[in-house]
Amino acid sequence: MLVVKSKHELVSTLKRLKTGSKTLGFTPTMGALHLGHESLIRQSKKDNDISVVSIFVNPTQFLPHEDLSKYPRPIESDLKICESLGVDVVFLPSVEEMYEKDSIKVSAPKFMGYVFEGFLRPGHFDGVLSIVLKFFNLVLPTNAYFGKKDAQQLLMIEKMVKDLNLSINVVGMPLIRDKDNLAFSSRNVYLSNEGRKKALCLSSALFSIEDKIKNGIKDVSLLKKEALKSLWDVEVEYFEFVDRELHITTKLEDSILIAVIRVENIRLLDNLWISDIVHEGKCI
Ligand code: AMP
Repeated sequence: MLVVKSKHELVSTLKRLKTGSKTLGFTPTMGALHLGHESLIRQSKKDNDISVVSIFVNPTQFLPHEDLSKYPRPIESDLKICESLGVDVVFLPSVEEMYEKDSIKVSAPKFMGYVFEGFLRPGHFDGVLSIVLKFFNLVLPTNAYFGKKDAQQLLMIEKMVKDLNLSINVVGMPLIRDKDNLAFSSRNVYLSNEGRKKALCLSSALFSIEDKIKNGIKDVSLLKKEALKSLWDVEVEYFEFVDRELHITTKLEDSILIAVIRVENIRLLDNLWISDIVHEGKCI
């Protein structure tokens, strides 16, 4: 496995490796790798001849009051995980390598980029799209792997690829949960045992909605009302059924239920892609 830190080295390494019609899979991450990240990397390995992972805590997607400086950075163990998964190239740039002073940035769409996560974290998606586009232009992947865990991010990256005519296939991967059903997140390490227990009400609420849908209940407002009752002990930032343009919807079939709760001042994202339940034939 090659670990490269400069753009120049990355481009020349990939040029050397990517001969003929070899396919290249790319998984961008901020590190502190867990089984959620691993599932993306494994899929990339399965689908492609060459797999590249980036590990970069991107400062432009953090708001001034957010946890940039204390974001976990266990780089040695991250590299071990990448090695064990058979990653070919890890890109590990510094902030200076990725950003010039006063550089050009991508603007997230004014609606999709400024509702839900974008409303609570204004400018966050400008930062996400800017760094992802920079990486795409360096790596030129055939396939790029993103988690459905970050539903709004995935929808916006798909939109960027379409709007900017990029020849990249975006692969959305299922949300992976820990044994107790908490969605894996690099920020889970901040939770106390008590907080973690409290946080589990969110996955329980989502599972209960999934069961109800499988039992034929399709009334979105009823599903939402029932679920919110079980979230009384935590701060709910949002809990909505949305369509793929992030408009709140009452049409269940193609919706995504996106949710964020805050426990011990940690924001915890979770969601349910209703279309997956329907299309997997799990639902009547
Ligand atoms: P991050 O390091 O948090 O920026 O995440 C890197 C990628 O891993 C993103 O595409 C995330 O959506 C994805 N990811 C994070 N957590 C999970 C999870 N629990 N299941 C699936 N994918 C995830």
